[in-house]
Amino acid sequence: MADHYETLGVTKGATADEIKKAYRKLARELHPDVNPDPHTQEKFKEVTEAYDVLSDPQKRQSYDMGGSGFGGGFGGANFGGGFSDIMDAFFGGGGSRGPRPRTRAGQDSLIRMQVDLNEACFGTEREITVDSAVVCPKCTGTGCQDGDHPEMCLVCKGRGETQQVVRSVIGQVMTSRPCNTCNGYGSVIKSPCRECAGEGRVRSRQTIEVKIPAGVETGNRIQMTGRGEVGAGGGPAGDLYVEIVEEPHEYLVRDGDNLHMSLDISMVAASLGTTVTVESLDGPVDIQIKPGTQSGTPIVVKSKGMTRLRRGDRGDLIVHVEVHTPTKLSKEEETLLRKFADLRGEKSSDAHVKGQDGSIFSKIKGVFNK
Ligand SMILES: [Zn+2]
Ligand SMILES: [Zn+2]
Repeated sequence: MADHYETLGVTKGATADEIKKAYRKLARELHPDVNPDPHTQEKFKEVTEAYDVLSDPQKRQSYDMGGSGFGGGFGGANFGGGFSDIMDAFFGGGGSRGPRPRTRAGQDSLIRMQVDLNEACFGTEREITVDSAVVCPKCTGTGCQDGDHPEMCLVCKGRGETQQVVRSVIGQVMTSRPCNTCNGYGSVIKSPCRECAGEGRVRSRQTIEVKIPAGVETGNRIQMTGRGEVGAGGGPAGDLYVEIVEEPHEYLVRDGDNLHMSLDISMVAASLGTTVTVESLDGPVDIQIKPGTQSGTPIVVKSKGMTRLRRGDRGDLIVHVEVHTPTKLSKEEETLLRKFADLRGEKSSDAHVKGQDGSIFSKIKGVFNK
């Protein structure tokens, strides 16, 4: 808290008359009726507080000794600089709080937005509808009718609190509590705005354009400064956060910046090699299957994966080839396959057990099922 003498612009040795004069001059400039802006009202509150203490000889003496201006009645004990600490211990920081501001900052809001993989990769613009609090258009946030402003509360004289004498183990002390008349605001609204009932804000449905950057993923939040809820008394709006929820794709699986897909090809295509066209996020891409491709072989298609957020370059698309073993063979197909095995000298099936390091550690001999 600012020094009371400094607040009034007087010296420590100022006479009661000098203090009164300084206060009157400042109060004329800062009175809420003259100058209703919140900053000035705050200043007015400080000046009034300072005058309240310095104009009362007892409070002034206590303040000079290091207290916060609560008058005497301590049964002769001199608490000196420890005064504030003791007050805090007994009243939970029951020192002077002053009026609470009518204008308060608004809250942030969060909404979730589903995007598909394509939108997550390339970014998009979306219109969203949000129910939010906006500044009351009728009173522009003052909460008053017909261009009025809140008037100083006559009960607490703008301080927002009233003082009471309380008995405690350390004797009689003054304590303050929020003024009942103005609910602690220090000012009252005589005729509240009919549109917002004095709240200074109203609920309204808004359409907001959201730009989703390329490369987002689930959990990313897009901050839209000042698009959250307007605060009480038309206070500054909070921010709106749009949280991304990515919808799963039919066959593409995202792993960071890379995309994976499985591709089933026939045993014959895997042996002879072929070109297969797959649908990527960028449209059709040709995948070259080399002759003799084994099941599980990954084929990397460079730069057809996800966009890297804020960098713009792309991850890869990785196609995992699965060789499909034919089932339900016709008599003719079976004959051909047996002939094929004969040609290759595969009189029995050579199945290899692979170790974890990939090396073959044993051979199993078997015969074709008859
Ligand atoms: Zn209003
Ligand atoms: Zn009041």
